[in-house]
Amino acid sequence: MPPAIYLDCNASAPLHPHARAAMLEVLDLPANPHSVHRAGQRGFEAVERARGQLAEALGVRPERIVYTSGATEANALAMALHSHAFGGKGWAVSAVEHPSVRAWGSRTLPVDGAGVVCDFPEGAEGLSVMLANNETGIIQPVGEVVRVARRLGVRVHIDATQGPARMPLPAALWEADTVALTAHKFGGPQGVGALVVGPGVEVGTLLRGGPQERGRRAGTLNVAGIVGMGAAASRWSDWSGCAALTARLERGVRALGGSIVGESTPRLSNTVCVRFGEHDAGDLVIALDMQGVQVSAGSACASGSPQRSHVLAAMGIEGSALRISVGWATTGSEVDRALVALATVLGQPSR
Ligand code: PMP
Repeated sequence: MPPAIYLDCNASAPLHPHARAAMLEVLDLPANPHSVHRAGQRGFEAVERARGQLAEALGVRPERIVYTSGATEANALAMALHSHAFGGKGWAVSAVEHPSVRAWGSRTLPVDGAGVVCDFPEGAEGLSVMLANNETGIIQPVGEVVRVARRLGVRVHIDATQGPARMPLPAALWEADTVALTAHKFGGPQGVGALVVGPGVEVGTLLRGGPQERGRRAGTLNVAGIVGMGAAASRWSDWSGCAALTARLERGVRALGGSIVGESTPRLSNTVCVRFGEHDAGDLVIALDMQGVQVSAGSACASGSPQRSHVLAAMGIEGSALRISVGWATTGSEVDRALVALATVLGQPSR
């Protein structure tokens, strides 16, 4: 069987070779970056160099970055302090957020049929809206979200996990109080991410202990992971071919009778979310896997559970959808072969 075609980069993108090489260089360092000896200093320099790389790619000052174990922890770090569960009035979160944000919400901001957040009720202590959706790729108007939050005088948190490498990051993002990221969506390793904290913004101490990350996140830093994240961030330009690949995919899936979710809404360059009438997306995922094509139905976090996608439900869409997400490593020939496999599993002649 030929090598599998991996089109599930919104679940995890393949590790970029530049990130891998950088990680191998520090993997055998015995050092805790907080040790005072020279080995410790080398570890410290490596994580600070990576902080600089990530900051440069994002266009923020390095001291705004707090390393975490990923976006789940970054979201929790941003939201716990003002969570309903901790005695605050709570967060209003969009209906299409990832579960790691929804978990902290005490009220829901609806989205319209195009998947865009459309109503901001008063009375919450913070607004949390994602930059772009992991299932549909639909981009939210974060500039407007920030403006509304400022008018209401409340906190604003943006889960920007799916944005980097897949879209130009809007300047308004950095006016939010906090922004969450995770490395494995953009060519870095799993288990490492960051919270970008605005100047003067106070976050809680979710993990108490040592003084790491200026007291905002205790625990020995994941040196190799952080180095991989920084190196991957310096190679986001390698994703520039995604838009052409998804345009090709969209032409192909339309020709097979698919309808694209969020068709007329701005979306990520790498994501195609498509419905095929009565075909169940979960069944299609399995049939495609047998053909050597790896995609998903909704998000990886929800797969394996029979529940409907909360994202499609919030948009008023019945049924299920296939998520195809390309990345830095995807080729045009892989897209073409995936479309042939799709035609086969749909029982149609390939074009
Ligand atoms: N937010 C969004 C939008 C995501 O897609 C994901 C990953 N599926 C997360 C948060 C959580 O990231 P991690 O699993 O790396 O903590």
